[in-house]
Amino acid sequence: MDESSSPVSINSTKKEKISVKPPSDERTRFGYSPEEISIDELMARQGYAKAGAHSAVKTCSWLKNSMNGTGVCYKSSFYGVVSHRCLQMTPTLMCNQECVFCWRPTEVPAQAPEEWDLPDKIVEESIRAQRKLITGYGGSPNAVLGHYEEAKSPSNVAISLSGEPTFYPHLPELVSAYESEGLTVFLVTNGTQPEMLRKIKPTQLYVSLDATTPEMYEEVCRPKSPNLWEKVMESLDVLKEKKAEGVRTVIRITAVKGLNMMDEAGYAELIQKAEPDFIEVKSYMHVGFSRLRLERSNMAEQDEIREFAQKIADFAGYQYAGESEPSRVVVLSKSGKLSNVSI
Ligand code: SF4
Repeated sequence: MDESSSPVSINSTKKEKISVKPPSDERTRFGYSPEEISIDELMARQGYAKAGAHSAVKTCSWLKNSMNGTGVCYKSSFYGVVSHRCLQMTPTLMCNQECVFCWRPTEVPAQAPEEWDLPDKIVEESIRAQRKLITGYGGSPNAVLGHYEEAKSPSNVAISLSGEPTFYPHLPELVSAYESEGLTVFLVTNGTQPEMLRKIKPTQLYVSLDATTPEMYEEVCRPKSPNLWEKVMESLDVLKEKKAEGVRTVIRITAVKGLNMMDEAGYAELIQKAEPDFIEVKSYMHVGFSRLRLERSNMAEQDEIREFAQKIADFAGYQYAGESEPSRVVVLSKSGKLSNVSI
């Protein structure tokens, strides 16, 4: 089927038909088609700053809010991350999934570079890029006194911006290099490369779990190669090993109403393989390029997320530990308590 001209039907596990929008009908929303421009141009238009040959940095709205004293990210209230000192980056834009909910332009494939930058260069260039992105706050009358100076020295790196970071071959060394600079490291992976997960030791490791069956995985995450579901399952076992090594572990579920927001017992069964410290159940957000594929109605309301999360908690033996309504996320833990990261 030509996806550019025909609506795609997706079968949920409940067998109802879900319509995913064809990419062509809303190109005017962006003023261009993502398939028709280069990845570098796309990045620039989306506010990314390049850091070296293939890494990218982008500030998020929570950094701005924290800088101006008008709010903080849920990572701050859940885990003690200082939002205006958080560096959001990726060492590669490559990815082996095309998740329907991804806010990145999955329509534009990123290629591996001819030569990979070394970790020290990425650390240096990413901090430099972040400093450049926040320059405007230096003279801003709205910025909280002292926050700009603090923000120049990031205290946390979120390796989760775009793309799948485990494709960067020197990822273990990159994690260590950030830690040597005094940063805590949050790393989010789609779980398709368990071999790499075995080698890394970030402060907090997230594995995404967005389906309970191979069929749901195909429909929601749209893997580009075979056997990736099996790899994700293996990563759940690796997550348990990482926890034993002292890494804080998280399973993140991105819940898309009508697609994967069901089968709570199935999620619980898989979660029990990993026994993560925390489970984040977060609604799909109708932002970025996901608007080419999904409707606003695919976003769940906060009470719906809370109810879905509570059912998973009940099946898995976890407890409600907190929530953030602006981010539409609920966090669960075994004890119902949360704890801050420390360097
Ligand atoms: S794994 Fe992450 S980067 Fe890749 S398509 Fe899915 S959401 Fe986007």
